[in-house]
Amino acid sequence: MPFYCQQCGECCTQMGYVHEIKADLGNNEYLIRNVYTGEETRSRVSPLMLHLFEDRSTFEQWPKACPFFRCNAAERKGYCTVYPTWPEICQEFGCWRLLILDAHGRRAGRVMTGTYLACEDATLRQIWDYHIREMEVADDAEWIRKVTRILTRLGYTVIR
Ligand code: SF4
Ligand code: SF4
Repeated sequence: MPFYCQQCGECCTQMGYVHEIKADLGNNEYLIRNVYTGEETRSRVSPLMLHLFEDRSTFEQWPKACPFFRCNAAERKGYCTVYPTWPEICQEFGCWRLLILDAHGRRAGRVMTGTYLACEDATLRQIWDYHIREMEVADDAEWIRKVTRILTRLGYTVIR
């Protein structure tokens, strides 16, 4: 399965270090500048997101969030308010290569680059440390097969 975002919002909560608003172009359009690469993008706040964009309470929790990130506390979901016109760096970003869901379909962990596990489930962490972390395999394909087999047997779903 291709990467899909679960809207946890994590990746956008520190992107204020990267994206700055260089200019307000009017009519809800902004010039976004990437402070590291200098790349500039014209992005427009989606009409459907205007009410969220105007609420700045997200920054009380995440002062360094991207200026276009908003969190809907009731839904516990993150939103990119410029989603249809977001910068290229955001279009290309994917935060996992294996997504691990628990028996209720909730996110339990993500395997990021290499074999690093970002884990939100204490049981999964124990399983990982005991059965997977030091596992010897010939190559990456075998590693993925074995990880999938072990976790599936223990009630998780592995998506890649
Ligand atoms: S890309 Fe990943 S970290 Fe970012 S919001 Fe989506 S699921 Fe969360
Ligand atoms: S432009 Fe959107 S996807 Fe990119 S960092 Fe900001 S809120 Fe996140």
